[in-house]
Amino acid sequence: MVAAVPFEEKTDEQKAITEMVRQFADEQILPNAERYDHADEFPEAIVEQMKELGLFGVTIPEEYGGMGLDLTTYVMIVEELSRGWISISGVINTHFIGSYLLMKYGTEEQRQRYLPKMATGELRAAFSLSEPELGSDVQAIKTTAKDVGDGFFEINGQKMWVTNGLRSGLVFVLVKTDPDAQPAHRGMTCFIAEKEPGVHENTGEHAGLTVPPQIKKLGYKGVESTELVFDGYRCPAANVLGGVEAGLNRGFSQMMDALEVGRANVAARGVGIAQRALELALRYSQERRTFGKPIAQHQAIQFKLADMATQVEAARLLTIRAARLKDAGERSDMEAGMAKLFASEAGRFCVEESFRIHGGYGYSKEYEIERLYRDAPLLLIGEGTSEIQRMVIGKKLLERHRI
Ligand SMILES: Cc1cc2nc3c(=O)[nH]c(=O)nc-3n(C[C@H](O)[C@H](O)[C@H](O)COP(=O)(O)OP(=O)(O)OC[C@H]3O[C@@H](n4cnc5c(N)ncnc54)[C@H](O)[C@@H]3O)c2cc1C
Repeated sequence: MVAAVPFEEKTDEQKAITEMVRQFADEQILPNAERYDHADEFPEAIVEQMKELGLFGVTIPEEYGGMGLDLTTYVMIVEELSRGWISISGVINTHFIGSYLLMKYGTEEQRQRYLPKMATGELRAAFSLSEPELGSDVQAIKTTAKDVGDGFFEINGQKMWVTNGLRSGLVFVLVKTDPDAQPAHRGMTCFIAEKEPGVHENTGEHAGLTVPPQIKKLGYKGVESTELVFDGYRCPAANVLGGVEAGLNRGFSQMMDALEVGRANVAARGVGIAQRALELALRYSQERRTFGKPIAQHQAIQFKLADMATQVEAARLLTIRAARLKDAGERSDMEAGMAKLFASEAGRFCVEESFRIHGGYGYSKEYEIERLYRDAPLLLIGEGTSEIQRMVIGKKLLERHRI
């Protein structure tokens, strides 16, 4: 029973893997993140090592070449990677969501075709809902797919903010297949759109899909965010997620289910960045002296440290609870929303407090906290803004406590 497991407890396997990932973050990510961030360069060497460690297949079942671990272990890994640099977790997040969709909704043929290559990281996945005119309001999607009758659907429209939009070889894309459906979500389908990794103008069987230059961002650098332009792109009917019979016009609920695990993932990123901000503050506050003593000896600074540490712990517990519920097959929409809301706000809070503790040096690119300060706000937006999480939590609360 889920609730009986003490939250702090990790299985031996979880301990081993999180220690391994922490060491990887300490040795490979943290010493290099600043360089990649400042140059906005894709961290190819780090990603290659992640492939070797099997991190692209953490949750993919062993029969398809992955490690077959659960969401709880996955969020523990994401925390450690994000403590190093949230862009690294960005490289695997949409990939993880794509593999979740295949495992839960894909046909056996789709699983066999994609999961083994995804488990090694040879094939990477993106996840695409947002468009230039919408993010929160997913039902307003305008991109369409039309059955053109020869075993293909033709996709037309523009997608926005696609993380891994250039280097991925697969995009799980939600589009409108029945424009007249009421409500609109009953007329949406998830397609598995294949593309050539790293190519801006796709040709041949992937013609009609263009990837414009990557969007320039405040933070979350290194991992690309792009638009995707579909203009007469032909997608085989066999690439409707789950097959035409089971998957046509069922995409909205599939994607919303995937967002639940995506939210646990973003929550874990919030925990990781908050944890790192706390570590930096603990170190700096014991080194920096004012008025004859380390600033850590001023009560006002200790209170900041205390508040940060409390937020980190609470965020971690909420995140693990949401993941455990999902692993136990229970509904976790509200819990994932709470974890995402709290942990992303905790990330922002801890980063800002750590930034204040660094005084003027926090504003210098010589100090790591400067990067965290630019990275943290993304977590308030991606996988649903804080306002949207509150809407989800409020709605679920009323559903569960109807009088
Ligand atoms: C770096 C980055 C990477 C991303 N990666 C991906 C990706 O891989 N795939 C993908 O599909 N998307 C991705 N996104 C898009 C992201 O999911 C959206 O930006 C997000 O959902 C918010 O949508 P929006 O930007 O259109 O804001 P809007 O929906 O326009 O919202 C604007 C503001 O209004 C508020 N708001 C909206 N509706 C309500 C309401 N009903 N009540 C109260 N307030 C409301 C919002 O909270 C927000 O404050 C990414 C975004 C960024 C910045």
